[in-house]
Amino acid sequence: MSLAEQLDSVDAGTAGTVDRHSTTETFESTAPATGAVVGVFPVHDAAAVAETVARARTAAEQWAALGWDGRKQRLAAYRGYLARRMHELSDLVHRENGKPHADAILEIALTVDHLAWAAGHARKALGPRKVPSGMLAANHAAYLEYQPLGVIGVIGPWNYPVFTPMGSIAYALAAGNAVVFKPSEHTPAVGAWLAAAWRAAVPDVPDAFQVVTGFGSTGAALCRVPVDKLAFTGSAATGKKVMATCAETLTPVLMELGGKDAMIVDDDADVAAAADAAVWGAMSNGGQTCIGIERIYATEAVYDRFVAEVTAQVSSLRPGSDGEATYGPMTMASQIDVVRRHVADAAAAGARVVTGGTDADAFPAEGYVAPTVLLDVPDDSSAITEETFGPTLTITRVRDAEEGLQRANATSYGLAGAIFSGSKDKAMDLARRMRSGMTSINSVLTFASVPALPFGGVGDSGFGRIHGEDGLKEFTRAKAITRQRYALPVNLMSFGRPEKAADALARVMGMVHGSKR
Ligand code: NAD
Repeated sequence: MSLAEQLDSVDAGTAGTVDRHSTTETFESTAPATGAVVGVFPVHDAAAVAETVARARTAAEQWAALGWDGRKQRLAAYRGYLARRMHELSDLVHRENGKPHADAILEIALTVDHLAWAAGHARKALGPRKVPSGMLAANHAAYLEYQPLGVIGVIGPWNYPVFTPMGSIAYALAAGNAVVFKPSEHTPAVGAWLAAAWRAAVPDVPDAFQVVTGFGSTGAALCRVPVDKLAFTGSAATGKKVMATCAETLTPVLMELGGKDAMIVDDDADVAAAADAAVWGAMSNGGQTCIGIERIYATEAVYDRFVAEVTAQVSSLRPGSDGEATYGPMTMASQIDVVRRHVADAAAAGARVVTGGTDADAFPAEGYVAPTVLLDVPDDSSAITEETFGPTLTITRVRDAEEGLQRANATSYGLAGAIFSGSKDKAMDLARRMRSGMTSINSVLTFASVPALPFGGVGDSGFGRIHGEDGLKEFTRAKAITRQRYALPVNLMSFGRPEKAADALARVMGMVHGSKR
């Protein structure tokens, strides 16, 4: 029986994983397109979370003891398992999250690639190495290594229910940690599938990756247990609560939060390509993308052409849940109210609504939002200042790319962004000065698909990094070791040092470092 079939047939509480807790309260996950029940899952309470973390502690020792090669081999088995079941998992993602099957495949393919990179690069990034010991400790050898923290708690959102949490889970496992994952209450079946897949693919260390399900209280219990680090992905508002709870036990946190990402379209940009990327960046996944493009600043030279291109391109988009739909329903029904409010605020403040809006056409069926393009939205409008998380974008005319950059940077968020320009040097300069963790030039979202690049934000978009070497190190502690190779005749760090030793040291330092340049 496939894991998806198991998920369909299991009783409340098992959900494709082995539920060994006494928890009796359950909740349903429902398909946003139809309202059909996707699965019934336990609401794990504090005791159940503590039991799971205790098992993870034992597993963490087994997992760490396997060494680089042992872990790499098992991560390859897990990756292979996911790669062979991409359609099965994407069907489940389509049902539970609502996104088109093809988008789910893309999300899983990216995840598989990150798993391969993390497992393949962990030893090089984290393994023991000798470092220069410097002038004052020249008689010592100096060693550096990055050791696993132990058990990592991962709390995830629903919008990319595979890719987003696996950005923490894959890198934490590759670094030698065990993981306990609390998926969003909107996508518990996908989370349970991922953990069940681990048990099937890595049967000798099944508890190295486990799942607990439930709402915010289950997430808070995971913060309190405590774990050795808590990797949170979600909204800034919840991130603050998670940090406050983790502060109770001095548990370190990684914060991957929301964004209000901007695109700058410069005078010499390829306007058609920029429009294509803008529409994908803003509307794919129903706009429910943390690094989705929500604001566009187009220069006077290209503004009219760009607006015309975007308007033409969005006219061919169609939300729905059939095989031809370009994007699905809003996964979280309450988000529709946020979209409606942002569009209404903008319209009331004088913005031009090119497509979409607030009337019935803008909400073609229950749960769906039509592609919405807003022009001339005032800077203090919620459509510019708050994360909308829907298939909307604003286009603002600016004098030049420099003004575009200033306005792009005028936000409390700082996750990612994009620059469209015909000049490599100018684009690189703008990208460096964009206040964000990631920027792509002449494309959107590309950095997320490059495993060697770190992923994370600044400001209200959070701190810490997943992906890349930084993402591996995020789940480790640096360990420093020195070993004396031979004793010097004079030991400066001894009460037995000669009286004149300090003067001699001062003379040497003056000669080496004291010259006026
Ligand atoms: P959310 O903040 O509502 O929930 C995220 C998770 O936190 C869920 O699993 C939820 O159950 C849990 N939670 C809620 N209250 C909690 C508490 N008090 N203690 C512990 N856990 C608690 O976010 P969401 O609606 O699931 O996701 C959408 C948000 O995530 C958007 O803001 C989006 O931009 C952001 N996001 C960020 C990234 C990134 O990498 N930066 C990626 C994807 C999504």
